[in-house]
Amino acid sequence: MKDQQIEINLATTRKEKPDFNNLQFGRTFTDHMFIMDYTEGKGWHDPRIVPYQPITLDPAATIFHYGQTVFEGLKAYLTKDEKVFLFRPTKNFERLNRSSARLCMPELDEELALNALKELIRVDRDWIPNLEGTSLYIRPFIISTEVHLGVSAALTYQFIIILSPVGAYYKEGINPVKIAVETEFVRAVQGGTGNAKTAGNYAGALKAQEVSSKSGYSQVLWLDGKEKKYVEEVGSMNVFFKINGEIITPELNGSILEGVTRDSIIQLLQHWGLPIVERKISMEEVYQAGLDGKLEEAFGTGTAAVISPIGEFFWKNEKLIINNGETGPLAKKLYDALTGIQNGTLPDSLGWVEEV
Ligand SMILES: *Cc1c(COP(=O)(O)O)cnc(C)c1O
Repeated sequence: MKDQQIEINLATTRKEKPDFNNLQFGRTFTDHMFIMDYTEGKGWHDPRIVPYQPITLDPAATIFHYGQTVFEGLKAYLTKDEKVFLFRPTKNFERLNRSSARLCMPELDEELALNALKELIRVDRDWIPNLEGTSLYIRPFIISTEVHLGVSAALTYQFIIILSPVGAYYKEGINPVKIAVETEFVRAVQGGTGNAKTAGNYAGALKAQEVSSKSGYSQVLWLDGKEKKYVEEVGSMNVFFKINGEIITPELNGSILEGVTRDSIIQLLQHWGLPIVERKISMEEVYQAGLDGKLEEAFGTGTAAVISPIGEFFWKNEKLIINNGETGPLAKKLYDALTGIQNGTLPDSLGWVEEV
């Protein structure tokens, strides 16, 4: 599979570019997409770049019924001197393969997948927005395509990569969000699929999101699926707390998604010599630290927002305000450091960026 040539079929007409000053997340897509097929016995075959277009699937394709699908999310950045940077892209393809393995789906050659992505970005290079804070969002995903209503792992799949120019996540500076601690629904359980990036996890999370947003909360804080006691994630982000000078993030336990941003933050903090621990942390402990005045900061982390500070927790009918509802210095420092490395304005001292 490694030696397979990517066939390139360019679009004859090009779409009009959107206003890069006014991009809505995930609404506009570039002129091309990458697609590759998998057939049991034959493996992955026919890698190709084609004009962006709808895909045709049989209504009985397994993806529609049993949800065998996995995805990734990463970004490409245009630097001031017109280079194109990817941030730790191999981590995303490794994780895509771990997600696939969990769902009995075929794994990809990570090198081929990364080469395909780079080739696609080169073809659609002029779609990468060049304004401060903007980037090209990359969505690789795999779907099962076999026509079969029986419940079993499919024998055919498609791997697709699509690209979408996205605006600055924070237009008016980083804004802290209000979070409701979810005490009824759970996102994932140990032994389930919480550590795989697969569609069902997100569909299952919508209800809690809907309920909390009606009360004015932008996301929920997920607790563990068994005791509803330990903190796991916030919305679809990993979560960090700064308590009494120490930075704490829930340890990976099988139901938490292993974020690339999470890992990068842990490494940055270690690099700076700041105390960072991965361990279980209960909501009770967070709340008590808040009451004692020791909860200095809390924030979510993920590719889309990078850092999302938490200004308020709502738990058991009580409000807990963190850092006066303002962005804390650690969140700001991490945001500046990570985005600076990603867009090439800061030196890449940890060897994280890869030029396309
Ligand atoms: C994607 C995702 C994250 C963050 O992962 P990054 O690699 O940092 O973008 C965290 N939690 C969930 C549930 C996710 O889907």
